[in-house]
Amino acid sequence: MKRRGLLIILSSPSGAGKSTLAKRMRDWDPDIRFSVSATTRAPRPGEVDGREYHFIDEPAFKSQVADGEMLEHAHVFGNFYGSPRGPVQEAIDTGKDVLFDIDWQGAQQITNSTLSAHTLSIFLLPPSIRELRHRLEKRAQDDPATIARRMDKSWDEISHWGSYDYVLVNDNLDATEEQLKTIITATRLRRSQQPDLTGHVRSLQEEFEELS
Ligand code: ADP
Ligand code: 5GP
Repeated sequence: MKRRGLLIILSSPSGAGKSTLAKRMRDWDPDIRFSVSATTRAPRPGEVDGREYHFIDEPAFKSQVADGEMLEHAHVFGNFYGSPRGPVQEAIDTGKDVLFDIDWQGAQQITNSTLSAHTLSIFLLPPSIRELRHRLEKRAQDDPATIARRMDKSWDEISHWGSYDYVLVNDNLDATEEQLKTIITATRLRRSQQPDLTGHVRSLQEEFEELS
């Protein structure tokens, strides 16, 4: 039976494991599309335009927002970030799930949009704040000042944990991966994700009446 695509939102304080788990979800099911955000921040070493982000300048970002091309957008760590609407609509129309690595502001905008019925939001908590800092340091992607800024912001992000459908403590990575797969598998079976159910029940009814 056909199914409708899900919008899977992953949020967490920086360093809790969103990108690691997003990658594992795509390895698990290559049909899951990743929403490539647009951002005004500069690329980090190794980041490729169009792969991690669409790197654009502020006037271009603002004009895309004004033209309604962003499904959601927010100002995070001094830069603008937004999810382009086109690829998301195309994916869910063809029954593909889209995974978003976005902050609480973006999650709130999507869950309050007309797409809310097809949204699954998951928040990742770190096992401890010390471990969160350790992960940011271990990732070795940012200088100490940037790590300090991310740590400063972490409580702001964590404080929104209560508005998500599911909250996972990402302690053991393999265990969190299994929990995520379970949640996604179950949510795909929601009635609202199965547009053909009505037709199927109608045909069951016809058959039932025929046989009785
Ligand atoms: P985010 O995308 O949320 O900023 P990352 O996925 O980049 O976080 O993870 C930050 C660092 O923590 C990475 O080096 C990653 O390998 C590591 N990490 C993620 N999850 C775990 C885990 N459960 N246990 C230990 N290290 C983890
Ligand atoms: P980073 O600069 O480390 O890649 O991302 C910083 C933060 O911005 C992360 O919390 C990430 O989830 C968030 N983010 C990335 N893209 C988007 C987006 O398109 N919209 C929103 N609202 N947040 C985003």
